[in-house]
Amino acid sequence: MNDCIFCKIVAKQIPSKLEYEDDLCMAFHDINPRAKTHLLIIPKKHIETMKEIGVEDEALLGRMMKVASDLAKKFDLNDYRLLISTGKGAGQEVFHVHLHLLSAPV
Ligand code: 5GP
Ligand code: ZN
Repeated sequence: MNDCIFCKIVAKQIPSKLEYEDDLCMAFHDINPRAKTHLLIIPKKHIETMKEIGVEDEALLGRMMKVASDLAKKFDLNDYRLLISTGKGAGQEVFHVHLHLLSAPV
C-alpha cells in the first residue's frame, strides 16, 4: 500500500485545490502557501526525488515546466520562482517529485 500523500491527491483519495490536470501531471495549490500564489506541479507517476529521474522521464519534466509557465501566465505572474527541493537536507518533506511555482516577492 502506497501511503504517499501526493499519490493520494493524484488518485483523488484526498482533496486538493486543482488548477490543472493532464495525462502526465497535475497542478494544485500548496496547502501551506509561502507566497501569494504557491502552486505545486507534480508527475502523476510516483518518483521519490530528482535522483530517481531517468531518460524516460525527459518528456514528463518538460511537460511540468511548460505547465508551470502556462500557470504563471494564467495567474498573471511577472516574476516567479520554480523550485524542486531534493533530499531531506534541502528541505524536501514530501518524497514525490514536485515543482513549486512561487510568485515573487515571496
Ligand atoms: P517540500 O518541502 O517537500 O519541497 O514541499 C512539500 C510541500 O507540500 C509543502 O510546501 C507543503 O505545504 C505541501 N503539502 C504537504 N501536504 C500537502 C497536502 O496534503 N496538500 C497540499 N495541497 N499540499 C501539501
Ligand atoms: Zn507518490
